[in-house]
Amino acid sequence: MESILEVLADYLTLGELFRLRRAIGTRAFDDVPHVADLAVRRLGLVRMAPTLRNVALCMTTSKHRCRECGARTQRAVLVCHSCADQKNGYFELISRRGMALRWRGVRAGTIRRAYSRLSPSSVRATGEFLYWRAAVDALMTSYGHAPVPG
Ligand SMILES: [Zn+2]
Repeated sequence: MESILEVLADYLTLGELFRLRRAIGTRAFDDVPHVADLAVRRLGLVRMAPTLRNVALCMTTSKHRCRECGARTQRAVLVCHSCADQKNGYFELISRRGMALRWRGVRAGTIRRAYSRLSPSSVRATGEFLYWRAAVDALMTSYGHAPVPG
């Protein structure tokens, strides 16, 4: 297990790493020093003791770090622009126009009803409201609509 985690950790973001840690248990994860070193290096904290517990504490308590990649961000949603724009990412944000494209063929009134039931997570500088894509997907799926692929 240890060698698999060492290889896998290089390809995962910090958010993915901690979701995997929650899924398979902290004991298996925290005994792999390479993973903790990698996480501390990605955060750019040189004085922090390299343990995943410290990294997790930093990720959950910091109000200036992206919850997915750990980069510094000033956004209120705590997700950097890069992670929020990542297609099908865990923390993807979607605009109303993006919803219309994602559910092409669905009546505009249905899409309007969906975003009127959700509160916007963020607002672009242009005034465009942004919603969590996962929440929109769940709501639209409950209405019986699957997103158009592509
Ligand atoms: Zn990020």
